[in-house]
Amino acid sequence: MKPHSAVWRCLALIAAALVAGGSAPVPSARPNILFIMSDDHAQQAISSYGSSLIQTPNIDRLAREGALFRNSFVTNSICAPSRAVLLTGKYSHLNGVRDNRDAFDGAQVTFPKLLQQAGYYTAITGKWHLKTEPAGFDYWNVLVGQGKYYNPRMIEMGDTVQYEGYSTTVVTDLALKALQNRPKDKPFCLLYQHKAPHRNFMPEPQYFSAWAEDTIPLPATFYDDYRGRPAAAEADMRVADMYMGFDMKLMPEDYPGYPEGTGGNAGFDVSESWSNTIGTLSPEQRAEWDKHYDEVRRAFREKQPRGKALTEWKFQRYIKDYLRCILSVDAQVGRILAYLDESGLAENTIVVYTSDQGFYLGEHGWYDKRFMYEESLRTPLLVRYPKTIPAGKRIAAMALNLDLAPTLLEFAGAPVPEGMQGQSLKPLLEGKSARWRKAIYYHYYEYPHGWHRVRPHYGIRTGRYKLIHFYNAPAYWELYDLKKDPNELENLYGQPKYNRLARKLKRRLEELRSSYGDSG
Ligand code: CA
Repeated sequence: MKPHSAVWRCLALIAAALVAGGSAPVPSARPNILFIMSDDHAQQAISSYGSSLIQTPNIDRLAREGALFRNSFVTNSICAPSRAVLLTGKYSHLNGVRDNRDAFDGAQVTFPKLLQQAGYYTAITGKWHLKTEPAGFDYWNVLVGQGKYYNPRMIEMGDTVQYEGYSTTVVTDLALKALQNRPKDKPFCLLYQHKAPHRNFMPEPQYFSAWAEDTIPLPATFYDDYRGRPAAAEADMRVADMYMGFDMKLMPEDYPGYPEGTGGNAGFDVSESWSNTIGTLSPEQRAEWDKHYDEVRRAFREKQPRGKALTEWKFQRYIKDYLRCILSVDAQVGRILAYLDESGLAENTIVVYTSDQGFYLGEHGWYDKRFMYEESLRTPLLVRYPKTIPAGKRIAAMALNLDLAPTLLEFAGAPVPEGMQGQSLKPLLEGKSARWRKAIYYHYYEYPHGWHRVRPHYGIRTGRYKLIHFYNAPAYWELYDLKKDPNELENLYGQPKYNRLARKLKRRLEELRSSYGDSG
């Protein structure tokens, strides 16, 4: 072979492509993007993250055939804010969605808009939850608000449409339809976003019986006493206080004399909400529902658990329904991956699986999220792209949801705007060297309005330590050594031997706050 023959062959291929396609880029040259996001899906409930609770073979397939981030985090652990961070690549104080009350300003620069401008076909199906209409999508069909598990109402390009069936399946049907109907001369970016496994955890009938006979072990920190952590003690998100109807799916006649539970929001009209929710089921769905839940109700009336027995009964009810919702998500992810295989798209499509944040599965006695503690700070992040990401790759570097917008833009060959604050994960995914952050910055806001009474806080997490500032009066700090105390039970702040470390972390925290422009 002549020394330059490979170069000539390459030039000849480019010339042939230009003749065939004019000056337009060859569609296959740019990757398609399938961005899968569930809602409140904790790493502890994915088998490739080492879950002891559940098998998720389809999500695991992405870990086997692509990369898994061992340390992926969010910057503000709550639904709408996390979605705004993902779209803009900017922290909440800049994208304007600090908590679930804020409406997203759709005039902002987002990665789907930039991909659309770069010639991508862009679409979204499923959960949006940003109050204003989606912008930057050629096709959109999103759940109204939080969305219902059964027979969801959705907004398709501005028109409200009533769907029949189970939300996870409906959203997948729509995603598949969007892929089938896409213009074939463009690369695509599809955001396929589930409601599940968000509260109130209503499973699909085929999974009602999963774990029915099992007793799921309580997490080690279930009976946490919150010593040294006043904000944790103040929060209203204990499994013990979950609603008897809305969360536990009992009917009022099942629990006379029992408190309803606070459920994280004493002002919420829970009885009306539960009767509205169960009222969305069709008679056939209701008959299947009752076949399962009538037995649960009968067993409750028979046992009449109180005190600790009631708390642990609630944990079993909660965790099983939560996991059952994930079985549907995993099955539907399998369906969409099978479509990529069958249509020959798998090789040239970047598939991302993530959640808008993590969740407490009984750790610290809790459900929900919000705190900067590990279970809700972490979120799953798996990326498959057979062309450049090695199969089975495991990445230890600290990734943020802030990084996904620049990452996807870089993979698509589109410029990343100056204002985006994340860092592209592409070099990490492709095994190239990259100067990487040694610490992450976090800021949570929703308080005292909204749910669960979690005091606002910001903080820094390094590979080993975490420093959190609960800044509302009476302000105080928490400090953890994650190596010695991975469950974050011992607040070291104020112990003399940690004073130097605390000062050093405070300086780094201030540097991060200033570099991200957060003075709030
Ligand atoms: Ca969420």
